[in-house]
Amino acid sequence: MAAARKSPDAHGDIDVIIAGAGMAGATLALALKQGGLNPLLIDPLPFEARIAPEFDGRASAIAYSAFRQWRTLGVAAALEPVAQRIEQILVTDAASPGAATRAALGVFGGAFLRFEAAEIGDASGGEPLGYMIENRQTRAALAAAVTAAGIPVLAPARVASVAFEPGRATVTLEDGRTLSAPLVVGAEGRNSVVRTAAKIGELAWSYKQAGVVATVKLERPHQGVAHEYFLTSGPFAILPLTGNRASLVWTEKEATGAALKAAGEEMFHAHLARRFGEFLGRVERAGPTFVYPLSLSLAENMTAPRAALLGDAAHGIHPIAGQGLNLGLKGAAALAQVLVDASRLGEDIGSEAVLERYARWRRFDTVALAAATDLFTRLFANDDPLLRLARGAGMAVINRIGPARRFFMQEAGGATGDLPRLLRGEAL
Ligand SMILES: Cc1cc2nc3c(=O)[nH]c(=O)nc-3n(C[C@H](O)[C@H](O)[C@H](O)COP(=O)(O)OP(=O)(O)OC[C@H]3O[C@@H](n4cnc5c(N)ncnc54)[C@H](O)[C@@H]3O)c2cc1C
Repeated sequence: MAAARKSPDAHGDIDVIIAGAGMAGATLALALKQGGLNPLLIDPLPFEARIAPEFDGRASAIAYSAFRQWRTLGVAAALEPVAQRIEQILVTDAASPGAATRAALGVFGGAFLRFEAAEIGDASGGEPLGYMIENRQTRAALAAAVTAAGIPVLAPARVASVAFEPGRATVTLEDGRTLSAPLVVGAEGRNSVVRTAAKIGELAWSYKQAGVVATVKLERPHQGVAHEYFLTSGPFAILPLTGNRASLVWTEKEATGAALKAAGEEMFHAHLARRFGEFLGRVERAGPTFVYPLSLSLAENMTAPRAALLGDAAHGIHPIAGQGLNLGLKGAAALAQVLVDASRLGEDIGSEAVLERYARWRRFDTVALAAATDLFTRLFANDDPLLRLARGAGMAVINRIGPARRFFMQEAGGATGDLPRLLRGEAL
């Protein structure tokens, strides 16, 4: 198949226009560039605005396979000093607040699961269960790598519409400028303009819950342990960060989330103490509180002629398992490999035949994870006593069976299935 026509413009010959320079879009751009293609990024926000602490207070649990991709792309050296290794994950199905204290003392108020990095050391090459990294640090490292690689970035600029013609996609920006390339990738998060322009439908619903995020400084060492408590009010996670800090992520009703965001120090601490307990000593808030609406959105297709969707533009899931960004990073590795391999064979990278390889590769994993997180969210947000009993029995069984525990750890590490080369730590 002949390669499609490219349009030389002020930015040279662009192979792939990427709408959205978020963590998924920027990772894809770096991977394409490493593979010899010319990507261009577009974002309404310049990088400087997105690395400010007030922009995004979240930290993400990054699977070790996704971190390997950043190593291969030259981003990890900047991240290693700020990446906290997760050595152990303790999941507790606790009926009441204060479970953190009881679990740490070995007095469990409910069923529990314990995952240890050392248990999968042979398969993971000594990697931890994952790395906790503040999003602003990741964004800064990606921005520096994108700049160093000489990838053109149009920011501030917003994709307003996309027209698909035989052989090319033409993007019109809000300020009227137009750009063309054989392929446009929608990596602009939920409400993707590329998805709408490509007439790809979407399955979406709100959980009518708020995800509350705050960073705290701890008095006692966290020792790289991540805790997840399934309290009656929803999941509550204590995720270790460098500098003996922790990122707290928990689910609340929308009204409680709004009240917490506006709360003064005293009210916030009273609320926190009821859930957190005292096992890590005194806890001090080390930044603003962020509140995110929680919803699920799943594009009906990941591709259309001359268009591909990536990251939250393709799949926005509940943060209960900390897998949303990991799914996007896995998608970036798969899409980059498909496009780079196709281009080396002289194929048209925007053709349906090429894009279908990406869709086929990622479809099952994406739908399965979205369905599993949706099920978990409903299962663990339910306080029905029978359901609690079944949940507890399930956790106890998994906790006792070594292979089952190892399977879950490798799944969470993103190291199962047909892995793209970048996730195996190999260059494209
Ligand atoms: C509370 C919470 C905790 C989470 N924790 C984890 C975790 O521990 N681990 C994990 O893997 N995931 C986690 N996630 C999910 C993760 O944050 C998202 O999946 C991830 O940020 C999505 O990245 P993205 O690059 O696809 O999209 P985004 O981060 O939404 O980036 C989209 C980019 O596109 C730009 N844009 C928007 N519109 C346009 C346009 N018209 N034209 C051009 N550009 C545009 C935006 O400015 C933005 O820069 C969490 C989510 C929440 C809510």
